[in-house]
Amino acid sequence: MSEDGPAEWAAPPEYLVEIGTEPLDRPARNSVGGWPCFDDDQEWPRCFCGDRMALFFQLDLPDDIEFFGGEHLSVFHCAHHNDASDPVTADGRLVPRFWEAPQPPFPGSFWRVLLQRDPGIPEAEPEPAVRALPLSLRPFVDAHGPFGMHFKVGGTAAWAQYPERYWCACGAELAFVCQVPAYREFGVRPGAPVQPYGLRDDAYMLFLGNEVYLLACPKRCDPAAVLPVNQR
Ligand SMILES: [Zn+2]
Ligand SMILES: [Zn+2]
Repeated sequence: MSEDGPAEWAAPPEYLVEIGTEPLDRPARNSVGGWPCFDDDQEWPRCFCGDRMALFFQLDLPDDIEFFGGEHLSVFHCAHHNDASDPVTADGRLVPRFWEAPQPPFPGSFWRVLLQRDPGIPEAEPEPAVRALPLSLRPFVDAHGPFGMHFKVGGTAAWAQYPERYWCACGAELAFVCQVPAYREFGVRPGAPVQPYGLRDDAYMLFLGNEVYLLACPKRCDPAAVLPVNQR
């Protein structure tokens, strides 16, 4: 036994995601909506319907986030298609390119989450539907432990039901990176397409308003190897 007593368990760093109220009028790396940043070989994701998916938010993960520190996280979801995500597995693993697997009843995928290492300059045009707002990260220690439902990155998932575990097609167990609380609304511009099953005409929600857990491949086998898991 060491003289310092038993080793203390250090909580993994976590950050609260905070959304500003002043509309964003220029590109920013951390934003709701806004001007997406892509790696050179990465294009604006398209839904199976052919339309570009809407950028809900993007942010640079702080360097001390386990596995994914320094990566750029961006969350896309089609404005015309809305459902809970449906992880597609075979033999205990997610199928190869699981982010493109059909999401019944749809013949393809309506969401894409990217973790990019070094995205370059922002796109010239902003996300057209979701209103651009500044986003910032604040270190925090959750007083409610695993029961606090926060919009956050890092730390551990606060599961609404039983914890879920998934293995990437590459063999690695997915690791938690971000949680978006249920019924979190993202304001949209006047004239934006009305989201099916939405609660309001002036806001979108992710995955029918379910609690959203983003789990990603710690081996970084592909920028799109990020699985949204839904619970409510
Ligand atoms: Zn679509
Ligand atoms: Zn993988």
